Amino acid sequence: MPRRFLSIGECMIEFAPTPAGTYAVGFAGDTFNTAWYARQLADADQIDVGFLSAVGDDDLSKQLTGFVKNAGITPEFATIRGGSPGVYMIFLSEGERSFQYWRSQSAARRLAEDLTALKGLSAGDMAYFSGITMAILDEPARGLLLAALAEAAARGVQVVFDPNLRPRLWRSNEDMCTWTMKAAAAAAIVLPSFEDEAVHFGDPDPAATAQRYLDGGARLAVVKDGEGPVVVQSSDGDGFRYQPAPVAAVADTTAAGDSFNAAFLVEYLERGRAREAVRAGCALAAHVIGSRGALVPVSQLDLIACRNRLSA
Ligand code: ADP
Repeated sequence: MPRRFLSIGECMIEFAPTPAGTYAVGFAGDTFNTAWYARQLADADQIDVGFLSAVGDDDLSKQLTGFVKNAGITPEFATIRGGSPGVYMIFLSEGERSFQYWRSQSAARRLAEDLTALKGLSAGDMAYFSGITMAILDEPARGLLLAALAEAAARGVQVVFDPNLRPRLWRSNEDMCTWTMKAAAAAAIVLPSFEDEAVHFGDPDPAATAQRYLDGGARLAVVKDGEGPVVVQSSDGDGFRYQPAPVAAVADTTAAGDSFNAAFLVEYLERGRAREAVRAGCALAAHVIGSRGALVPVSQLDLIACRNRLSA
């Protein structure tokens, strides 16, 4: 039976400008992006990829659900009557992108009302969530989600957390940091990005970020740092650094971390080897930042390289 990879969070409707001056509709959101890349990378007979969220009952919600299904991902969605997905629009000005969001009332904020899929995971499966997942929930819902994740961990589910610090989604920085550490305490594997952690937690270097999450209860901390080395540290004292290959033409770093996480987690879930998993994460992220957009298709060749079968 395939193992399950269940990603938990929000997928939004994206309106992105086209060269013709119109807008193209897409679908993206940090934990969804990771599910989408995981589905492209993993063998379907090895890993079943699900996405736990909530949608409304309008046409946009139907489009979103259709997109998720067509991508081969199992939608594990609560349906909120009268609800709608969050939406964002990308603006282009002299080559610079800016974003405007309408997500404060999105149905995904009520995802904790149905955690059946999470409660159905068993030993060896993986549950993945992020700081954005936490930020969009109200406090009681955060408590429900963390309790369900702790129960899952007690059953042998590998719980994984990417802090993905986004101060604008939180009431205060203090709130963000407090809940980030509470969420991380529910996780065995934590996948932070150093740049954000340095700003909000004052970590002097990636090793300090890793140590803070290990002290908070994680078993494995994998600290990404853009073009810098990925620092990996485990609670049993093992650790290593991996320098990503330089990327000559970076087109757009959107979803660098999300795609890294997907390749890392698929490799780790299938074979349990952190070094190979980091290498796969860097290979996929390099591919993704070479093109524009959050969801960059992965060809068969890219797939082989990302899954590490060509790159020794
Ligand atoms: P986030 O999107 O969370 O900010 P990071 O910027 O830390 O993520 O990057 C995640 C991964 O993407 C890195 O570990 C690295 O593998 C890859 N990456 C990001 N930027 C670059 C870059 N300029 N050159 C090479 N690899 C990069």
